[in-house]
Amino acid sequence: MLLYNTLGRDIQEFTPVTAGKVGFYGCGPTVYNYAHIGNLRAYVTHDLLIRALRYAGYEVKHVMNITDVGHLSGDNDEGDDKMIRSAAERGKSVLEVAAFYTEAFFTDIDRLNIRRPDVVCRATEHIGDMIALITRIEANGFTYSAGGNLYFDITKFPAYGEMARLRLDGQKAGARTDVDKHKRNPHDFVLWFTKSKFENQALMWDSPWGRGYPGWHIECSAMSTKYLGEQFDIHAGGVDHIAIHHTNEIAQSEAATGKHPWVKFWVHNEFLVLDHGKMSKSTGGVITLQTLIDAGYDPLDYRYFLLSGHYRTQLQFSYEALDGARNARKTIADRLTALSGKAAGTPARVTHKKAAVRLAAFKAAIETDLATPRALAELWGLLKDTDIPEAETLAAVFSMDEALGLKLKDAVKKEAPSVDGAYIERCIAERNAAKKAKDFAKADAIRADLKALGIILEDGPAGTTWRSAGY
Ligand code: AMP
Ligand code: ZN
Repeated sequence: MLLYNTLGRDIQEFTPVTAGKVGFYGCGPTVYNYAHIGNLRAYVTHDLLIRALRYAGYEVKHVMNITDVGHLSGDNDEGDDKMIRSAAERGKSVLEVAAFYTEAFFTDIDRLNIRRPDVVCRATEHIGDMIALITRIEANGFTYSAGGNLYFDITKFPAYGEMARLRLDGQKAGARTDVDKHKRNPHDFVLWFTKSKFENQALMWDSPWGRGYPGWHIECSAMSTKYLGEQFDIHAGGVDHIAIHHTNEIAQSEAATGKHPWVKFWVHNEFLVLDHGKMSKSTGGVITLQTLIDAGYDPLDYRYFLLSGHYRTQLQFSYEALDGARNARKTIADRLTALSGKAAGTPARVTHKKAAVRLAAFKAAIETDLATPRALAELWGLLKDTDIPEAETLAAVFSMDEALGLKLKDAVKKEAPSVDGAYIERCIAERNAAKKAKDFAKADAIRADLKALGIILEDGPAGTTWRSAGY
């Protein structure tokens, strides 16, 4: 499997720490509001990568955090606490807000056919692990206390900012008025808050540095390491996290353990943008999955739309593009429904040469840095090739769908077939011939097959007519 690694800024051959097994951590949501469709692009990307790894034969352990404390509106310790602000606006407690939006998040995830992670870990349930990690960082000499908070001192960690290729300009923190005056360097960051503008933080815990709460970045270092070990294979998130959040995660983790590299592969998805620019919960213009459902789309239309672009390319959202995805899904469903009407079962393995060639090309595309546009082109090529026996086409498509996650098996049963009249007439003629030859078993089988497609045959004095089951 070839994968783009942000660490080296190039495509590299993926090899795991332990043969055959992959430890995967993806930054999860901050549960102060509904996820927008841009956030959901990140989780579809994680799902695709995990499916691709499993498709390639790896056993994957997927860990995702839920941020329910400590994330400020600026990733660099600036701004308001997102959870506190949301709770105040809604007249609810922070934990009530977290519980509500966590459930909403998983509803969205399920609707997009994103597989649930193997481990879902909440920040508020891992404060002890964070304190233990900060204690190690402190013992190794990477911290200082100022103004009641404990900071990470980036000058003690020479590799700081390597992945992001940051140019550290040595600017004094106080030079920028909006930056915490206690920071010796603007890139230093808080590991533990006790005193700050949030002295009335709703959730606080006792710690060696006083009663307070963790900075945002430490949770990902503490929880990923807890569930995946001190060095693991893949860490994923959106490109916005490269410069600060992931940079700080690397600094903390390596400062604590002394092991380098902490993570072998960093995978970052590009942004989904609207025609007028960035989608942001703070500047409005936010589209959620429910917005799309209310407009009559199936969540899988959105999934298909995402697959039609490469995860490392910025993708512009528009309803026209979503219509295109919906039509594509409908055409696929119709084709699969027609194929399954003609196929006698689906073989477990693809043996037909042309189907096997398509499937191999599909797998190669997926295993080349998740080239989903090319993979979809192979799917379409397969569907259009009438030389391939129906059952073989179906077997290949269903195999491809293990990586794509478009629920194509359900599409056969659920989507209303656009009735191919000529096909039904051929079936009726075939059934008439069977009846004439007194092969009633075959005649009944043809009738049953059509019924499974939602087509009812009615025998009358003028011959056999058909109608859709819904009419
Ligand atoms: P948050 O809940 O804000 O921490 O974001 C959750 C995930 O969504 C992170 O991995 C972000 O990098 C990612 N993300 C945020 N906005 C977008 C966007 N417009 N397009 C793609 N990914 C995004
Ligand atoms: Zn994270």
